[in-house]
Amino acid sequence: MTQKPLCPKINFNTYLLSFLLLVLMGALAGCKSITGIVADGEGEWDTLALEEEDFWMEEQLLPYQAAATRSMDLIHMDLELGFDWKSQRVIGKAKLRLTPYFYPQKIIVLDAQDFELGRVARVQKGQLETLAYRYDEQELQVYLPEELAPGDTVELEINYVSFPERNSGEGSAAITDTKGLYFIDPLDTIPGKPTMLWTQGETQHSSKWFPTIDRPNERLTHDIWLTVPDSMVSISNGRLIQQESLGNGIRRDYWKMDLPHAPYLVAIAVGDFAKVSASHGDLPLGYFVEKGFEKGAAKVFASTPEMIAYFEKRLGVPFPWQKYDQIVVRDFVSGAMENTTASIFMEELLLDEREALDSEWDYIIAHELFHQWFGDLVTAESWSNLTLNEAFANYSEYLWNEKRYGQDQADLKLVVEKEGYFAEADAEPKELIRFNYADAEDLFDAHSYNKGGLVLHMLRRELGDAAFFKGLNLYLTQHAFQAVEAHDLRLAMERVSGRDLNWFFNQWFFAKGHPELVVEVDYSQPENLLVKFSQVQTMYETPIFQLPVTLSWYEGGIRKTKTVRVTEAEQEVALENGNPISLLFVNEGQELLMKGGQVLSNAQYLQQFRESQLGVARYEALDSLAAREAHAELTEILPLAIKDSFAAVRERGLSLLQGDSEWKELLPGLEAEVYRLVEEDAENKVRSSALEVLTGWNPTAYKGAMMRLARDPSYLVAGAALMGLALLEDSKVELSWVETFEGESNFRIAVALAEYYITNQVPGKGPWFEKTLAKLRGEGLYYFMGYYGTYFLEVGVEAKGAAIANLFAVLKFSTKDYLRLGAFQALLGFAAEEGVLAKLEEASAEESSEELQSYYAYYLEMLKEEN
Ligand SMILES: [Zn+2]
Repeated sequence: MTQKPLCPKINFNTYLLSFLLLVLMGALAGCKSITGIVADGEGEWDTLALEEEDFWMEEQLLPYQAAATRSMDLIHMDLELGFDWKSQRVIGKAKLRLTPYFYPQKIIVLDAQDFELGRVARVQKGQLETLAYRYDEQELQVYLPEELAPGDTVELEINYVSFPERNSGEGSAAITDTKGLYFIDPLDTIPGKPTMLWTQGETQHSSKWFPTIDRPNERLTHDIWLTVPDSMVSISNGRLIQQESLGNGIRRDYWKMDLPHAPYLVAIAVGDFAKVSASHGDLPLGYFVEKGFEKGAAKVFASTPEMIAYFEKRLGVPFPWQKYDQIVVRDFVSGAMENTTASIFMEELLLDEREALDSEWDYIIAHELFHQWFGDLVTAESWSNLTLNEAFANYSEYLWNEKRYGQDQADLKLVVEKEGYFAEADAEPKELIRFNYADAEDLFDAHSYNKGGLVLHMLRRELGDAAFFKGLNLYLTQHAFQAVEAHDLRLAMERVSGRDLNWFFNQWFFAKGHPELVVEVDYSQPENLLVKFSQVQTMYETPIFQLPVTLSWYEGGIRKTKTVRVTEAEQEVALENGNPISLLFVNEGQELLMKGGQVLSNAQYLQQFRESQLGVARYEALDSLAAREAHAELTEILPLAIKDSFAAVRERGLSLLQGDSEWKELLPGLEAEVYRLVEEDAENKVRSSALEVLTGWNPTAYKGAMMRLARDPSYLVAGAALMGLALLEDSKVELSWVETFEGESNFRIAVALAEYYITNQVPGKGPWFEKTLAKLRGEGLYYFMGYYGTYFLEVGVEAKGAAIANLFAVLKFSTKDYLRLGAFQALLGFAAEEGVLAKLEEASAEESSEELQSYYAYYLEMLKEEN
């Protein structure tokens, strides 16, 4: 599963609504910009021992969560489902074939949440025999007339109606609800929203729609029959075997899954989807999206066949299942979910063909795809071991970056993952594999994901590529269709490499924290540097780590490296480098999961930027100098940064130039170079960033270029051009020219138009604002709402009432936290209007997210003080 970003993904030098964004960042802890890799090595060392003790105490109080005991083994399910769209009920008949796992059994315990049960019977030679049972709305205990011996099977038939809406409530940050099955706009009452249903089983929510043993260490095969309207498409696991018309516009689809997988991976989706077909060899691929988005889907998911080929090659294990479908749905409760052969994605992946030019969704596509091996083929035996699913899926994003975009991009990705992990670990370090927790949903955090992926990278570095990937191959083939725990991975790696790895798994998987390293380099003998390492992490719970630290330097442009194995709290090595060195790099590629390092001066960062062949090191140098506001050094490297071979460095450089026209005076030729990037850079992100720099410096001079670029195929570029034009103070563009863009549905165009209409006080645009608000979704809607509020507050005041009502509708009904926040923000502007404050307080009281609640409370309090 990929978590939904807590905040919309932001291009950090975007022109868009930085105010709202900052507020959002502040409100939702954990939303981080991807810019900060300042490593100045100071502060941060001393964590309070007292706090650690508190965590320790707290953890002891949490219950120990064992892997589920396997009393019965569920072998196969036949499931017939019909849907009552009106009352959002599922009408089901399940036949379950079970056998005792080891010991004889007389009672069968099944998970079945919020069902109304009909007959529960045993099928004996074609006859039904009603059985006694006890049911408490959560668990169904079925009493067999006689004890079932190991090796014997029993077939149960259970008729039921399930109610996904009952007792639904807040899930976690990763999975925001627990209904299991979701009816979306079931009676087609919401304009512009398609009617559909889809499921989300992880963690234990499949038993909201079929009776099962809802545990990750269970595995079953199944046949599913779905009765659906003829106008709709159904998708499920395995293969579609048959479609049978039942008359009256009703059809029955038969899906067969003949390879065993865990109940939480069972999934269905039903809706008016269009299918884009593709293939990888004999493997059929399907991309399911709302009609009208087929061409966009073909682009968004275009890398899928190549990704499968690459992962197959690295793992030496063919894609394990019958087909692979990817389905984009509305109102998904997470980012995406790796249901076996049928991954489901959030609607942010719904792009039209032109938007798909700048699609950045490869990471989530890789993540769910890699889960088909790690998670689906081999499955974490309990949620305590969740990282055995998520570490791999997370690391696949690195692998794909490395393959597709190169080492620099992959390295930077690792830095971003590290920052995410540190943000969480600084507040509360936890074991990667932890058996004491209150709620399984708590495991979906930056430890299981980010740290897990980083630790796999440590393991790869420790063993080398050949052993690491051969170890993965052994792990997958040995444990195919089985539940696994961390020791299975360790044993596979040990077997392949011939090395003991207990120490590695102990320090990374079973202990808390990470190394914090102080590195002092003595340059007094430049031909033999003395390097002193000190591990300064608090030793209360965090171990002394064994860590291979790469030291590197350059001799006449040639990179030299030496790896030092740091194993002690204090350790000193002589480099014996021979030729004199003026700067030694420690962990130059940033690949180690650790904090600290060598404290560098501004001059040394300047040298790092000039010398390093690693993009991530140049990025770090630039970023650190920017954080220190090292003006002299920046003056030297900014002209180089915007010409750097690594696009992220060019972008970071441009972001530093933005809004500061002093650079243009200081650095002759710089402006021409920035303009060259606008026209020639291979990356649309860089082109739009460069354009933003110029429109900030000298807008009128680029009016002609902007009018041409407003028609650029890339919305990133076109949006930046239009925004530049909207902000022109003299030599304004004609209203009639601006209006030719009103038919566009991309938010970047929409916010630029909105900006023009607001700054120029254009009356009569209320209907366009209304239409655009209704059309936009996701992050686009979030950005637009601020403009929308401002327009009706300042220009289209006559329609203020309706606008307020529309914003309240988003605040009340949106399933996304950040959209409710956006609506709240926009409504704050109307606080002086009659009744608005009272309604905001009402909405605040009904808000389900605690973070938003406290945020709302803060602002409402401030407003009350003002009034
Ligand atoms: Zn995942």
